[in-house]
Amino acid sequence: MSGLLSVDAALKNILATVRPLPAETISLAEAYNRVIAEDIISPISLPPFDNSAMDGYALYFEDCASADQQNPATLPVAMDIPAGAAPIEPLQRGGAARIMTGAPIPAGANAVVPVEDTDDDWGKGERSPAPANVQVYRSLRCGENIRRAGENIAAGDCVMRAGTVIGPAEIGMLAGIGCAKVAVIRQPKVVILSSGDELVDVHAALEPGQIRDTNSYTLAGLVRGAGGIPIRLPIARDSLPAIRALYRRALEINPDLIISTAGVSVGAADLVKVVMDELGDIDFWRINMRPGKPLAFGSLQGLPFFGLPGNPVSTMVTFEVLVRPALAKIAGREIKQRVVKATLAADMRSDGRRSYNRITLERADGQLVARSTGIQSSGALMSMVLADGLAVIPEGVTMLPAGAIVDVHLLRDFE
Ligand code: AMP
Ligand code: MG
Repeated sequence: MSGLLSVDAALKNILATVRPLPAETISLAEAYNRVIAEDIISPISLPPFDNSAMDGYALYFEDCASADQQNPATLPVAMDIPAGAAPIEPLQRGGAARIMTGAPIPAGANAVVPVEDTDDDWGKGERSPAPANVQVYRSLRCGENIRRAGENIAAGDCVMRAGTVIGPAEIGMLAGIGCAKVAVIRQPKVVILSSGDELVDVHAALEPGQIRDTNSYTLAGLVRGAGGIPIRLPIARDSLPAIRALYRRALEINPDLIISTAGVSVGAADLVKVVMDELGDIDFWRINMRPGKPLAFGSLQGLPFFGLPGNPVSTMVTFEVLVRPALAKIAGREIKQRVVKATLAADMRSDGRRSYNRITLERADGQLVARSTGIQSSGALMSMVLADGLAVIPEGVTMLPAGAIVDVHLLRDFE
């Protein structure tokens, strides 16, 4: 369609403009779900010392090479090594050391026999003194049940790369290597602006002609889900002074991104556009997508700015397609679209713009089947409440028949 900017060109332009934020150092306890700013090199080996994988007896495997249930090897118990014990004497050939899981292996010992394969019955109640002798009921391989120093990681190994999101395993590993403070990318602060004479906040009763502001809430959720910190400002009335004041307040916060909704469509009162032009360097795009054709992008006094369309579904879909990747780049996160292939359950129509139709997904005969959520109006937020994803109808295509395979941009974890 002539005069329309393609989605891909818009995204390329946006991603070429925004920059990742600098790092900050925070304590490990605060670091969950943050993005690591630099490669993490372990200063130590893990495990730091050879240790036992079992509760049992450390010994020389050669000393019970022919042991079995009928002919156990009897070994004198030379020492008792609880977990947390400091370095200990070497074990002499022919002896055994009672040892707990995680306790250091005495020098010389080369295997651990689990307590179940001995005549000892410890583990029931209080820790008793070690017996004088232990009978070993089986033979062992050299190294059996010993966790070697450095077998997990060696000192100097890179344990995670810059850009990794800190999940439960990562935060555990950082604790394991003694990383009490960690350099992470600063979390983007995102100011969310709404304006419109028809809008009231959730607490207000609805007067005739009014609707409640939903966009600032959906956007706050989307921003939070993308790792940002949303800051919602109160709705401005449709007047130049009110909109100016709203935008000035946004700038005073000095956020990393400003997202405004409404006021960018052709018929919209030009007030928002006037203020955007006064304060920034903004392009007004008409994008070849549905929903979400009108969109403003640029900078407000140097801060990246999106003016998203006001219809609640258009707001969310343009966020998914254009803002989420930008926010990922700003937050130092990997820019990845979660796309799966699915089979259309019924014919699906479009007007020739690239369409993002709200669909549910189900699995049938090993295939993913996409089904429209019903009404696809850009004002019908229920279509997003129901949707598992957005089925993408490519530009230039006006009808895809039932059975066609489409790309589905996932909106939530599916299955
Ligand atoms: P506008 O761009 O101001 O003409 O708004 C387009 C449509 O989006 C209108 O139906 C508005 O009522 C609606 N709209 C604008 N802002 C919001 C908002 N924050 N929450 C819900 N709907 C909105
Ligand atoms: Mg409006």
